[in-house]
Amino acid sequence: MEMDTLGRRPGLERGTKRKYAGDGPETRGPEGTTTPYTNRRAQPPTVARNQISNANSTFNPAGSKDDEYYKTLYAKEPDFGLLGQRDPEFKAMLRHGVHLDFADPAAVMQLTKTLLRLDFGLHVDLPSDRLCPPVPNRHNYILWLKDLLDSSVPLHHPGAREHEATRQVTGLDIGTGASLIYPLLGCVQRPSWSFIATDVDAKSLGYAHRNLDRNNLQSRIRIVGRTAADCLIPLDDLGLGTIDFVMVNPPFYTSKAELADLASRKSRPPNSACTGAPVEMVCAGGEVGFVRRIIDESLVLRQRVQWYTSMLGKLSSLEVLLGALKDHGVTNYAVATFVQGNKTRRWAVGWSFGNRRPSLSASRGSDPSVGKNLLPPPTEATVATWPISSIGLQQLGQAIRDAMQALDLLSWAWNGPSSQGVGFVNNNVWGRAYRRKKARDISSTHLTGADAVGDSRSPLQPKQPEQESERDIAQCTFGFSVAIQVSRDAGDGEGKAQVVARWLQGNDYVLFESFTGFLRKSMHAACLDPDGMGSIT
Ligand code: SAH
Repeated sequence: MEMDTLGRRPGLERGTKRKYAGDGPETRGPEGTTTPYTNRRAQPPTVARNQISNANSTFNPAGSKDDEYYKTLYAKEPDFGLLGQRDPEFKAMLRHGVHLDFADPAAVMQLTKTLLRLDFGLHVDLPSDRLCPPVPNRHNYILWLKDLLDSSVPLHHPGAREHEATRQVTGLDIGTGASLIYPLLGCVQRPSWSFIATDVDAKSLGYAHRNLDRNNLQSRIRIVGRTAADCLIPLDDLGLGTIDFVMVNPPFYTSKAELADLASRKSRPPNSACTGAPVEMVCAGGEVGFVRRIIDESLVLRQRVQWYTSMLGKLSSLEVLLGALKDHGVTNYAVATFVQGNKTRRWAVGWSFGNRRPSLSASRGSDPSVGKNLLPPPTEATVATWPISSIGLQQLGQAIRDAMQALDLLSWAWNGPSSQGVGFVNNNVWGRAYRRKKARDISSTHLTGADAVGDSRSPLQPKQPEQESERDIAQCTFGFSVAIQVSRDAGDGEGKAQVVARWLQGNDYVLFESFTGFLRKSMHAACLDPDGMGSIT
């Protein structure tokens, strides 16, 4: 099967020209490339988690490359001709200097090695009879995890940096494979991330150790051999209290026959680097069976892991697993689609027993193939939009502060430079029922003169943030941010200013919905003020 610089997934007829889907080597079901994630808001941690070792290693093979570099790395398809110019070993695999034969396992393996080396500064050895990971697809999973974690760390004050690069994060990669690809990609991109990497296959474990040593990441990645009968999330066995995430690319197939059938349809020798060996690809119940085991363990471990996640090869698996999560009452979950190329897709699911809500991009993606009924409730809402010329941003900020200060919030803090405020509360203090009760309380206070005799905080005065402990706030029923976002059109079109509410914390979507309704009304009311800000469009 021959490919030019635009190769697609394997499995097409020999000689077909395809786009590179970033997943060429793998025959693990419907495939896909990645739409890079847009991580607009992220937050710093307050608690350092268990680390498997000192994660302050200065090793960072990718040098000063930042999140933006990684986010857009495979937005365009790799140019094989250019890669050949940069890597003689890759060039030796090309025909006419630009075509790569995706039916040739050696060519596919070289592509993976070349991309890891040139784009991430990583050096890997891969066996010819184990899975050869397609780099863009694996990279997509890491991009999503960064978005998921960054956007759901505890943030109890506004204006913090987009993400805390020094945040200590520990992840578990179940079934890391010979390549050790996820821990390697994660460590390169986030110098303060550490991994535990497990596998049951002796040959893969041997290569994983070799790849660990080659990249000098022994202080940040711990490889652990397991047996098929062991639990999948061995926190107790390893003496770990809590970790930040679990990730897995599970064996997809239910039987060797299913795997062999797929390999034959793709004109591949069985058990080549393209197909993977049965130990990697097959398990009881396929990917659904594997992830069900993780769900069962998560129901016991609960908040000892902030995010449990898995990649999935079939959309039908996503539906089944989301059903299982809902049956267990899990409401904080995230769905992602990894699309690399224009046809093939992978999906991912994540769930949490914590109360921090991830961003819209991390929790709902933007893939129409995933029905809306499968997605978690949205965590962001634009409550008002103005043409930029018709609005005074100072007044707009004042209107938001006025609206919030009129509420009995447990805490509220506004950050001017980032035009963003963060608030926490335990119940619906903007609703009619609460306001009526408050009015009654105030009139009875006046009648009894209670506030004249020492009640230091009248019901009219919201508490200040410093009055509440971090712990109180971390357990609040509802946390939100309100931000002014200004976008300026590149062309002649006029820019706009928007007020955007973000659901940061809690498990009650109805509360977030009613809060955005209150905010929308407040913003409209402010516009009608004679000294108002302009007109809402
Ligand atoms: N993470 C690699 C490999 C995925 S293939 C990649 O994305 O390319 C699935 C891997 O899970 C195989 O390496 C297989 O050996 C491993 N595996 C299967 N059962 C396992 C178990 N019970 N515990 C840990 N790893 C397991």
